[in-house]
Parts: sequence; structure tokens; C-alpha cells
Amino acid sequence: MENGKSGVVMIRFGELFLKSEPVRRQFMKVLIGNIRSALSSHGIESTIEDNRSRILVWSDTPDLLLPLLNHIFGVVDIAPVLMAEPSVPALSAVASELAKWRLKPGMSFAIRARREQVPGFTSQELGAAAGGAVLDAVPGVRVDLTHPDYEIFLEARKEGGIAYDVRIPGPGGLPYGTQGSALSLLSAGIDSPVASWMMMKRGVKVTFLYVDTGVYAGPDCYHNVLRNFAALSSWVPGIRLDMHVVQAQPFYDLLMVEQEPRYRCVLCKRGMLLMGQAFAQQRKYAALVTGDNLGQVATQTLQNIVTISSSVMVPILRPLIGYDKEEIISLARKIGTFTNDPGDTSCGVVPSKPATAADQQVIETVETRLNIKDLIPSLLQSGYRVSAMNGKIVPENEPGSKSKGWI
Ligand code: ATP
Ligand code: MG
Repeated sequence: MENGKSGVVMIRFGELFLKSEPVRRQFMKVLIGNIRSALSSHGIESTIEDNRSRILVWSDTPDLLLPLLNHIFGVVDIAPVLMAEPSVPALSAVASELAKWRLKPGMSFAIRARREQVPGFTSQELGAAAGGAVLDAVPGVRVDLTHPDYEIFLEARKEGGIAYDVRIPGPGGLPYGTQGSALSLLSAGIDSPVASWMMMKRGVKVTFLYVDTGVYAGPDCYHNVLRNFAALSSWVPGIRLDMHVVQAQPFYDLLMVEQEPRYRCVLCKRGMLLMGQAFAQQRKYAALVTGDNLGQVATQTLQNIVTISSSVMVPILRPLIGYDKEEIISLARKIGTFTNDPGDTSCGVVPSKPATAADQQVIETVETRLNIKDLIPSLLQSGYRVSAMNGKIVPENEPGSKSKGWI
């Protein structure tokens, strides 16, 4: 027992090592801040200790830590650890204790030992001594360093010794908030939550934009976009996410009277980007994110992607561009945004034969005639903001949960 807390969990982080010292320090600060927010928002009292290679979290409820820590970007893996003096006898004793719990007669095992800045013995000597102690402690087991049934990891460092035998994978990536801010166009579908998650995983602070098409949206669209949004918030535990909702039916009313129905989808997506760009300029989001995927639907042919992108100046990130649908679905399952039963999320604006190669100049002429560039800013006045935290939509009566007119 140390720090008055009974359990210890060790967190390893990945690419932070690749960074220069000041950048690494900044990333660590953000990572530890994110860990603190996650734990405190779940009422978990903890003490966090960090050094160059690892973070140790002390808590009375280590089991509660694991499902939170494996949802924190930047965490490579998590191990519940036993602490000991960084000496050969002390670590050998702890290794024997672990082995008595988990190692059964007939099984093979390996000790993976590391020693850093502790004098008097080498890593190999530590491994050999601990291996001998385990062989004495558990009858009928054997050493196999290549394909062991069971592994014990021992680390002797000047800050202390640790032993563990399980490593639970974290999501990897970079600490959330270290890569600037972007606005992600989130829909009721499968792709855009995965695209958002991928950017969040790489450290981008994401705010969301949902374009509500009003009477043209299938009855389950709103419910599903909220479900996607809430699920994404469970990947940044303790951090509030915001989503702007634009009530854009007037824009779609206009598209429905346009004489050439086949251009509606391209006009729709250009309109969404224009709305996104207006927010990005106002709120200083560096880029937009979409779930576009090459060739998936008519608006995602290469030519249409080019025509759609040309409506805005702000950069557009499309992390799913080269994925197959199956790859996207398996990520969505892992993230928790996939549902077998999405209900009716159809779009009433889609024509029977949408254009697959819309010419930019033709589209611009239509937009000028429909006066779309003037309509968009007025739509933005009518929206509201929804928030989500820890996997749930923040209830409306809580402060800051939902606000009308965010501009
Ligand atoms: P998804 O692609 O997310 O599964 P979808 O298939 O309904 O949703 P697409 O027609 O493929 O949407 O649209 C491409 C992208 O445009 C989406 O990935 C998303 O980023 C954005 N998008 C679509 N509909 C909306 C919406 N109602 N509000 C905000 N963004 C949207
Ligand atoms: Mg899609």
C-alpha cells in the first residue's frame, strides 16, 4: 500500500517518445489532464505519478479504472501491477506470488525482466533469479522463452519495482486535444461517427455539426445522430462534447423545387460544407471532417468529391476515403456506434437518378440562381447546441446542455 490507495495500474503510452522534449512534456500534460478528467467525472479518487516511460495510477478501485483508461487516446496499454522494492529478492517474491495465482502444473512460462538505473544486477540476472523462484513455488511448470503459456513482466527502476502479467490494450493514438480543433459533419449513418473517432484518436478536438433536413429526414435520423454523438463521447471520458444542430429545412425546400432533381445531392453536400465553413470561420476550427468514402454513393465519385469540395476554402479531412465498407463497419462495432437496426433514416430529398459527375460551373450557376450563398448564413441563426458526456446526452435542464442561438 502506498499513497493510502490499495491498487495500482500502469499506463504505457506510445508515440510520445518520438517527440522532442518540450512537445513530449506538453503531450504528457494533456494526457494526464485527460486521465484526471475521466477519473474525477466518475467519482474515482486517484493519485497519478508519471515519469518518462510510464504513468502509475493509484486507486482504491482499480477495477473501475480499466474500462475508462482503455477509452483514453494516447494509452497503448494498461496493466494492473504489484509494487515491490527494485531488488532481485523482492521482485522474485512478487513473481512467485503472481505465478501461484495464474500458473498451473504443465504450463510453460517466461519472465521478461528489465532493469534501468538500478545498480548491482543485470536484467538477465533478475530474470534468471525470478524464474528460479517461480520454478520452486509452482510444481510441474517449465520455462519456455519463445512460446510461453504465461508471462510475467518485471521492471526494476530507480522509482521502484513493478510486476504484472496482464496487458490490456488501450486505443493508442495521441492525447485528445493535442492536434487542434476540427468540426465534424455527423450524420445518423455508419461512416461519419467512425471518421470522427479516427480524428479524435489522432488528438483532434472535435465539435460536431448535424444538418437537420426537417420533414425530409427519416423519422429515426435525429435519434440515431444523438446515439452516435453520445457513443463518441464515451471515448473522451469526463470531457464534454458539443454538437451544433442546424434546422435546414428551408434549404431543402429550395432544392426540391430545383428543376434538375439529379443535382440535389451535390447541392446538398455543398450546402453542408458551406454551413461547416461558416462555423469554422467563426469558431476557429482548422478543418472540416466528413465520412466520405470513395465511390460509396453518387456524391462520392471522384468527380463529385472534387465538385463538392470546391464550394469551400476550409480544408476537408476524409479519414475513410480509401476504406472498404466492411472495414468501416468493423471499426464502428469496436467504437460502439454500429447498430443492426437503424430504423428509417432515409432521405426524402434524394432523386431516383442522382448525378455522378456534376460539372462545377453548372452547379455554381444553379446555386446563384437559387441564391444559396445568402440563405446559408440565415439558417445558422436558427440552430441550437446539444452536449454529450460519458456516453450520454447531457439532459436539457443541466447548465450548458442545450442552448438556442449559439452565434
Ligand atoms: P454516413 O456517411 O455517416 O454513414 P450517410 O451515409 O447518411 O452517413 P453520406 O450521404 O454518405 O451520409 O454523406 C457523406 C458525409 O456527409 C457523411 O459521412 C457526413 O460526414 C456528412 N453528412 C451526411 N449527412 C449529414 C447530416 N445530416 N448532417 C451533417 N453531416 C452529414
Ligand atoms: Mg456514407
